Amino acid sequence: MRVVLSHRIALVPTARQEVLLRQAVGVSRFAYNWALAEWQRQYQGGEKPSEAALRRQLDSIKRQQFPWMLLIPKSVPQQAIKNCGAAFRRYFQKQSRCPKFKKKGVRDSARLDNGPGTFKFDGKRVRLPVIGWVKLREELRFSGKALSTTVRRVEDRWFVCVPVEVEMPEPVRESQAAVGIDLGVSTAATLSSGEKLAGPKALGVHLERRQRFSRWHSRKQKGSSNRRKSALRVACLHARIANVRQDWLHQTTTRLVRQFGVLGIEDLNVRGMMASEKLARRIADIGFHEFRCQLEYKANLYGAELVTASRWFPSSKMCCECGVIAEELPLSLREWTCACGTFHERDINAARNLRRYALDRASCARINACGEEGSGAGPTDSVKPASLKQESAMSYLGMD
Ligand SMILES: [Zn+2]
Repeated sequence: MRVVLSHRIALVPTARQEVLLRQAVGVSRFAYNWALAEWQRQYQGGEKPSEAALRRQLDSIKRQQFPWMLLIPKSVPQQAIKNCGAAFRRYFQKQSRCPKFKKKGVRDSARLDNGPGTFKFDGKRVRLPVIGWVKLREELRFSGKALSTTVRRVEDRWFVCVPVEVEMPEPVRESQAAVGIDLGVSTAATLSSGEKLAGPKALGVHLERRQRFSRWHSRKQKGSSNRRKSALRVACLHARIANVRQDWLHQTTTRLVRQFGVLGIEDLNVRGMMASEKLARRIADIGFHEFRCQLEYKANLYGAELVTASRWFPSSKMCCECGVIAEELPLSLREWTCACGTFHERDINAARNLRRYALDRASCARINACGEEGSGAGPTDSVKPASLKQESAMSYLGMD
C-alpha cells in the first residue's frame, strides 16, 4: 500500500538564508496575487483564463517587469500560479469560496523545488535550490520518496513541509475491539468504555494567557515598537497553542486506531455548529474536524474500520439499553433516565450507541463482501433521517 505522509520540520537558517526565504515567500505571494488579479481582469474581458497560460505570460514579462524574481528559484512563482489555478478549480467545483488575495505575514509559504531531484535530504540538513544546504532541527522521519519541499513561516520560525511517498505493509488489524467516540464540548471525547479524554491540559493555561496578552496588546499605541513586539508575542502564543492542540490530536488518534479495530464516530455538521457562536470557539479549540480527518487516514494506515454515523442518527437521544428514542433532550441535560429505568450519562450513552452502530455497519459490510444478502446500507450511504432511525431502532431491538 502506497501512501503519502507529510512531515513538517523546523529549519535553522543562517541570516543569509533567512533573507532568501523571506524573498521567496514574498515572490510567492506576489505571483499568486498577480495571477489572481490577472485572472479576474481576463475573465471580465470575456477571455478564458487558465493557470498554464498565466504561467507563460508571467515568464515572458518577468525579466523586464519583475527582475527581482530572478533571484529566487523559478519554481516559486510557477507553483504560486498553479496554486491560484487550483483555488479557482475548487471554487468552480463549489468546494471552497472565491480565491482571495494573500496578505503579508498570513500563512507565508513558497514551494522551492522543481520536482524530486531538485532537492536533497542528508541527515539533519536539506539542500534547496538557490538557498543551498539548510540545517534541520530533526531528520526526515519517513523513509521513501520525498515529493516536494514547501517552506512556511509561522511567526518567527521557519518550517519545511515534505510529503513523502511511503510503502506501507498491508495493514494488519491489531485489535478486534470496537469503540464509539462521542465528541463534545465540555469533554473533548468520551469513549463507549466510559473513559473521558479531557483534551490537552496545557491549552487552558495558554488560552488564559492569550486573553491577557491580547488585552495588553490592545492598549499599546498604534505604530509603536511596543505594539509590534506585543503583536509578535500574541502571534507566537497562537502558534504554541496550535502545536499543543496538534500534538494532543495526533497522540490521541494514533492511540485509538491502534487500540480498536472498529471505531464509530458521529458525522457532526461542523459548519452548522460553527454558526452558533457560543459553541464555535470551543469547538474550534478542540479541533473536531481535524480529529476526524486524522482518524480517517490513520484508520487506513492501521487497518482499523472507521464508521461514520449520519448526523441524523439519534446518538444522544436513544437509550443504549432498550433503543427507545427520547422525545426531547436539551443540550443542557447531561444525565437522564430512560423509561426502561436505565440511568444515562449523556456522552457515554451517545458513545455506546455509536459503538453499536459501528459494529452493525462493520458486520454488514463483511456479509455483503461474501455475497450474502445484507441489510444493504454501507457505512457511507446517506440514508433519509426517518428510515435510518427506524432501521437502527429495529436492529437494536433485534439484538437485545
Ligand atoms: Zn431504555
